[in-house]
Amino acid sequence: MVQLLIGLTGTAQSITLVPNMTPEPTKLPELILSHRIESVDLDEELECGVCNSQIKKTAFLEHLNSCAAGTRIPHLMMNVFFLEDEVVAKDALIERNFIHLLNDEPIELRYSKCLYCQSPEMHVEDGCRIVKRAYYLGGMFQNTEREYSDTIKFLEALRNQAKVLKLKLQQKRKMNRITLFLQIVFQIEDDENFMKSLPANAFSAIKKIEEKDSQAVEELKFELRKKAEEESEFLELARAVCLEKMTEELVVVDIKNPRTTPFEFVNTFF
Ligand SMILES: [Zn+2]
Ligand SMILES: [Zn+2]
Repeated sequence: MVQLLIGLTGTAQSITLVPNMTPEPTKLPELILSHRIESVDLDEELECGVCNSQIKKTAFLEHLNSCAAGTRIPHLMMNVFFLEDEVVAKDALIERNFIHLLNDEPIELRYSKCLYCQSPEMHVEDGCRIVKRAYYLGGMFQNTEREYSDTIKFLEALRNQAKVLKLKLQQKRKMNRITLFLQIVFQIEDDENFMKSLPANAFSAIKKIEEKDSQAVEELKFELRKKAEEESEFLELARAVCLEKMTEELVVVDIKNPRTTPFEFVNTFF
């Protein structure tokens, strides 16, 4: 039990600032937690990466079903939106639990299960009575860290796959238009031997376009990988700062008003 406590409270302890300078009651680190909540506006528009038109977010998947029909793009984007909502919900849950800890309200936990106690009986008897609010929050961060970062990584990977497929689809459509144009200009009826039937200069022009297109795909992949790395670094930092700020406030409550009753819980899906 002691080891478990040390393990779970490690994060909170290592990040807690020296408490002899009384922290001012700060505002919630809304900036950090809500950096992903861009808008809840139902009229929000997104640019379709295939046809470049602006589409309302609520109609976006429907649009992709026709605009990117026959590709995996609609399916990938459906999962991206789903996971984006999940990340927002996970951020919001941590924020709510911080407030619950500040106000001594029931904490929202999966299956209403205490992070520290092995059974509900242990929890009521003595269990985590010695665990301060600040440490409990640290435990919550630590417990959800792996799942949170896996969700983000999965989300980034799906979003990046969709971006690459969108570019490829754009390129394919452009090549179809060029091919059709050249078929008309050079009166080529044999679709299968289209390239062989082209005059040399048109042939090399097409080859150049193909080369440039595959280079553009490689460049996009490189850029997306770099952005994904930066994003996860930022996220790690944001979580750490967030925990630090919240811990500062909880330490004050823990000093002024030490816990005397067991934490109460309500179940949560996230
Ligand atoms: Zn489109
Ligand atoms: Zn407990």
